Amino acid sequence: MCTINKGEEVRFDYATTETVLTQDLAQTPCLCGSSNCRLFVKSYSDLSTLEKEQLKNAGLLANHIF
Ligand SMILES: [Zn+2]
Repeated sequence: MCTINKGEEVRFDYATTETVLTQDLAQTPCLCGSSNCRLFVKSYSDLSTLEKEQLKNAGLLANHIF
């Protein structure tokens, strides 16, 4: 959690809240600019076991995901 300043760009990882993407989000390029970007918007079920564990261990998953 952090303060969002007016005009600040907000990035969101759909894999932290969505178990499956809707058809209109599937194959959507990700524009986050992160050095470890997944290149496309992903759901939790699209992630590798390692990626799932990393999100869980970082406390970033919504409660309904696991
Ligand atoms: Zn990205």
